[in-house]
Amino acid sequence: MRILRGLFAGLRGRAQGGARADRLAARTACNPIVASGCTGRRPAAARLAALLACAALAGCAARGPGGYVLDTSLSSRGQSSRVQFIVLHYTAGSLERSLHVLSHGQVGAHYVVTDEQPPRLLRMVDESRSAWHAGESAWRGYTWLNSSSIGVEIVNPGWTRGPDGAMRWHPYPDWQIDAVIALVRDLAERHGVKPENIVGHSDIAPRRKMDPGPLFPWKRLADAGLGRWYDETLAARYLAQFQAEGLPEIGWFQQHLARIGYDVPQSGVADDATQAALAAFQLHYRPRDFSGLPDAETAALLAAMP
Ligand SMILES: [Zn+2]
Repeated sequence: MRILRGLFAGLRGRAQGGARADRLAARTACNPIVASGCTGRRPAAARLAALLACAALAGCAARGPGGYVLDTSLSSRGQSSRVQFIVLHYTAGSLERSLHVLSHGQVGAHYVVTDEQPPRLLRMVDESRSAWHAGESAWRGYTWLNSSSIGVEIVNPGWTRGPDGAMRWHPYPDWQIDAVIALVRDLAERHGVKPENIVGHSDIAPRRKMDPGPLFPWKRLADAGLGRWYDETLAARYLAQFQAEGLPEIGWFQQHLARIGYDVPQSGVADDATQAALAAFQLHYRPRDFSGLPDAETAALLAAMP
């Protein structure tokens, strides 16, 4: 009771303070269920004290769909967005086909950037929920990134076979990339996504995926302040060094790929997983040649990555 009286005195003292009194009145008024539930049969002054104390502690409450009273007056400081990664994809299909698959199939995306001019931005999954876009994936020690990422699908055919049977990659128009940049900037700012965590599907699933492909302009995004890029002066210096002195061991490549975020074994052996990770790195930073074989330029770019 002494505590309640103390609270009452404190509340009364604060209630004399103008704006705070209005807030207190609002809190009391909006919480009749919780407040009346904790007063009980007590003398009038004590009931009022308890009512105000309960109201101040419990704040606003509302009945949720489950029928229970939910009090949202307090929030924990220990929290952050669940979104740590932004993953970019191409849909590998026409607009019509892409939207059909993303709305009827087993895959999903938070956002779709269409190939119309001007492009439309569709949100197909709420940001608070997981979209099934990443699948089996890993980046910087995190795995299965559906639950910790936002997936952005860009309508683009990916690659098709030309008349000569060769793979032909389809470019991204500038106006579509402008829309991607605006969207990714907003997402990164709102969720506090670090530059190194803005990645392609090929980065997080190098053995399965190649999207958004070698024609995706990562450098344009980096110039817009989105994503990580290497120090170009440093890269030129390293290139001269590796050309003069020869390539490092495969274990050196594996160490740098892992430092950057790729899921790659530290075996010292040039296995399939290492080649796939090297190819993914090349797709992102040196798309002219993404064979997955180590070379002096790839070594220079790896060493010059922050
Ligand atoms: Zn993808």
